[in-house]
Amino acid sequence: RQSIFPPALTPDEEILINSFDSTSISEWSYYYTHGDHVAGRNETMAQWTADKWSEYGFTSRLDEYYVFLNYPVSNSLVLNYANGSTYTPSLQEDVLEEDPTTSYPNRIPTFHGYSFTGNASAEYIYVGIGQKVDFDRLKALGVELEGKIALAKYGGAFRGLKVKNAQDNGMIGTVIFTDPGDDGNMTEAKGVAAYPDGPARNPSTVQRGSVEFLSTYPGDPTTPGYVSKEGSPRADPSYVTPQIPSLPISWIEAQPLLQALNGFGTNGTEVNRTNWVGAIPGVDYFTGEGSGATLSMSNVMEDAYATIWDTVGVINGTNEDEVVIVGNHRDAWIIGGAADPNSGSAVLIELAKAFSALAETGWKPKRTIILCSWDAEEYGLVGSTEWMEEYIPWLKNAAVSYLNIDVAVSGPIPDVSSTPDLHAIATSIMKKIVYPYRGATNLTMYDVWTHEGGEVGVLGSGSDYTAFLHRGIAAIDMGAGGGPNDPVYPYHSNYDSYHWMTEFGDPGFVTHKAIGQYLTLLLYHMVSDDVLPLEPADYVEELGIYFEALEEEIAASNYSIDLSELTAAISTFETYAQQFVDLRAQAVEAGDSDLITVQNHKARDFSRGFTSQGGLPTREFYQHLIFAPGRDTGYAPVTYPAITESITFDADPQLAQEWVGKTSQAILVAANILKT
Ligand code: GLU
Ligand code: CA
Ligand code: ZN
Ligand code: ZN
Repeated sequence: RQSIFPPALTPDEEILINSFDSTSISEWSYYYTHGDHVAGRNETMAQWTADKWSEYGFTSRLDEYYVFLNYPVSNSLVLNYANGSTYTPSLQEDVLEEDPTTSYPNRIPTFHGYSFTGNASAEYIYVGIGQKVDFDRLKALGVELEGKIALAKYGGAFRGLKVKNAQDNGMIGTVIFTDPGDDGNMTEAKGVAAYPDGPARNPSTVQRGSVEFLSTYPGDPTTPGYVSKEGSPRADPSYVTPQIPSLPISWIEAQPLLQALNGFGTNGTEVNRTNWVGAIPGVDYFTGEGSGATLSMSNVMEDAYATIWDTVGVINGTNEDEVVIVGNHRDAWIIGGAADPNSGSAVLIELAKAFSALAETGWKPKRTIILCSWDAEEYGLVGSTEWMEEYIPWLKNAAVSYLNIDVAVSGPIPDVSSTPDLHAIATSIMKKIVYPYRGATNLTMYDVWTHEGGEVGVLGSGSDYTAFLHRGIAAIDMGAGGGPNDPVYPYHSNYDSYHWMTEFGDPGFVTHKAIGQYLTLLLYHMVSDDVLPLEPADYVEELGIYFEALEEEIAASNYSIDLSELTAAISTFETYAQQFVDLRAQAVEAGDSDLITVQNHKARDFSRGFTSQGGLPTREFYQHLIFAPGRDTGYAPVTYPAITESITFDADPQLAQEWVGKTSQAILVAANILKT
């Protein structure tokens, strides 16, 4: 064990922790997971959320935006074998008697958000996980791509990039399949029963999801960089939405498509790319040129401008210029959404309830608490991005941090990513949480987390913290997921349901409770502590680690790039961060509350310095110069992104050198805010 058990708590902490109840969390979860809550169609749930928060003492409202979305109308796919016979996948998930929401008459079909309406009919090529590097490798091997359809495997990179890469290579359609090779030990091939009978993936599971080119721009594609209201000027969305059709498909229905390619073209060994070969039985993962098989696909979407609703709940703090925002999206691709996102939504209701219990003692926060229930995250972080774009002048001044909870629970293993200034508080709060884990009841969250590797991750993208992070606001994302021996999480499918959650994901809602208590205590300290628990000095070590990674990239590239300016900037940052720490300690020692406030404001503000107004090369939305979602990953982060990707993506050492200068300047701006 790594920490004291049971954890020692203050009286306020006791009240918050004891207010949490798995039974009421399951009630909130049940509510959210039994109705259509696709973006722009969930006003009832938005209002219900506002009403619950109001009941618990938050002043609540709905903030509306008017955004571009599209909705599925119909789709189809046919495999035409070389011998003239055909196979027609259903493109549907099985209705399961055991899981009531899978048979709802208004259940949502399988489709891709922001996908292109069109037909394509051509030979098809298996392109692995469809990253740029996969396509580069295929071209190097002489595989013809132009005019063909891409068959890509899910995983590794954001799905929209797979479609983008296919399109950029002259391909005319994309089909993306789920592969049980990504399911660890929980597969039918290894003798594990499939959902609903067991924890393996139901073979008909289809992953829906957005195909917006999100690492270029998140948010409403028609209003890049400004808020979407009725009457807002509109850009043509085609620069961030695909211009070729795409369809998602289950592994069981992808199997014949891949089998028809067996023995044709190039196989996985020769391609030699990570994750190229999956685990669908009877499939050899050949590229398939010359197979003679073709696909005919059709995708029909209805374009719509729709109102979306962000629920906002406020408790004012005594310090008006210090605000902590807690966000979770509410929209889901499906009727269920028990993990994504409504495990987080259920937790937020229970959090509001806990703060109402604390408020009964007369407690008031120093800093303002803002709860947000975002709409349209799934299409591309739309609700949170538009909200940020509306309130940015105020947020730039007042936001102390943004706390995100999307999938609070899809398995038992806690996982936290944050900006470095939140590492210390993020880890210390874990020691205060009793965390149920694989039958053990005497461990803290910190014990479990260290047992599972114990590292705070770097934020990339894929959830609603993105817009805040890229305006220089300290941010954290948290949740619990499964490992290779845990039930397979049926992400973005009909089986991410209340039934799945109660049977496999989190029976008894015990992990929900622990993660909710964690978020609650974190928020409590962020809004209550005299000394704001942000540690700018914790950037120093991270900046050094990212520096080493950059040196390795440069060495691998054989470019000569001079990093001395960056070294000097990090060292100046270290000096001023230490001055900040010392002066803050003096202020605390002397009980000088004015000076504590001055230092708190520096901690709030310094990370704005890491942003560049014009953004990263080719993507102005992404302003943080220390971390960003990778241009070829979409989700996974890249550190010193402008410098690193000038090397790895643009192969432009001169551009990299230019960004060494700009990145160093940004670090100096942050350092100067901390200077005494
Ligand atoms: N979380 C959603 C997904 O992974 C949306 C991500 C995004 O568009 O940024 O599909
Ligand atoms: Ca916008
Ligand atoms: Zn989500
Ligand atoms: Zn999602």
